[in-house]
Amino acid sequence: MNYQKILETIYSQIKEGENQGATATYIPELSKVDPEKFGVNLTTVNNQSFGVGDTRDKFSIQSIAKVLTLCLAYQLRGESIWKRLGYEPSGTAFNSLVQLESDQGIPRNPLINAGALVICDILMSALGDAREEFLQFVRDIAGNASISYSEHIVESEKSAGFVNIALCNYIKSFGNIHNDCDDVLDFYFKMCSIELTCEELSQTFLFLANGGRKTLPSKPLLTPSQVKRTNAIMQTCGLYDESGDFAFRVGLPGKSGVGGGIVAVYPGHYCIAVWSPKLNKKGNSYRGMKFLEEFTTLTEMSIF
Ligand code: GLN
Repeated sequence: MNYQKILETIYSQIKEGENQGATATYIPELSKVDPEKFGVNLTTVNNQSFGVGDTRDKFSIQSIAKVLTLCLAYQLRGESIWKRLGYEPSGTAFNSLVQLESDQGIPRNPLINAGALVICDILMSALGDAREEFLQFVRDIAGNASISYSEHIVESEKSAGFVNIALCNYIKSFGNIHNDCDDVLDFYFKMCSIELTCEELSQTFLFLANGGRKTLPSKPLLTPSQVKRTNAIMQTCGLYDESGDFAFRVGLPGKSGVGGGIVAVYPGHYCIAVWSPKLNKKGNSYRGMKFLEEFTTLTEMSIF
């Protein structure tokens, strides 16, 4: 399979087409990003890397980081995490409050904001310094000690974080947040603010295509059962209320973020990261979705 040629062909085809949607405006810093940025990178489980476009520009990975907090909590606390949250798709927007009332403060899954807040709370109870230790976890997986939180994105999100503040307080009212809400929210905003390039992102998530083992150097991060379940949750919940559409069009476990990134894994083969900041109405990258759909169609490779 000539990945480089396929990436270039699809890239130029999509770049010629229209760039619909809008950058996220509810986080003021994200609305300042150049909407024409567009990068793609694919890393195979044999550590071959192929890229096109703005593949070495850092961008805010936002909700994509929720997969990494989930993995660390899963590694530390095992199946007990499922007492605090579910693993069903919500069918609602990423920041929705509606189901929490009838579900008594138990979020539907770890990839919506409500569930990610509970995962942050679990990590804060499990670790001495969750912010530092989570960052170290990501740096280790990525093999890159320079990865950091972006303070200006954190401040920007905090300045308008009313819905997340409401979510955290509402979950706490049911007893499903154990730490101080301001502290949990600070960690949540920080983990969302991590910046990676497409190249780094496809390298970082490669372990999910590789049976839970990081490749360079080889190291198990999740058990085979945990990696199966994490990929299943990405498949069913990773693109919020567009997860069904993503499965239908792309056919790979994936995760999106409002920074315009989408990462997808083809177990046993590769991890691919796409970044284009303009989002569709569901908060997923317009060009990112299009690119991945074309990619699995042209390569005839998907899990289905
Ligand atoms: N930090 C963002 C928020 O909480 C993450 C949302 C996303 O990427 N979908 O709203």
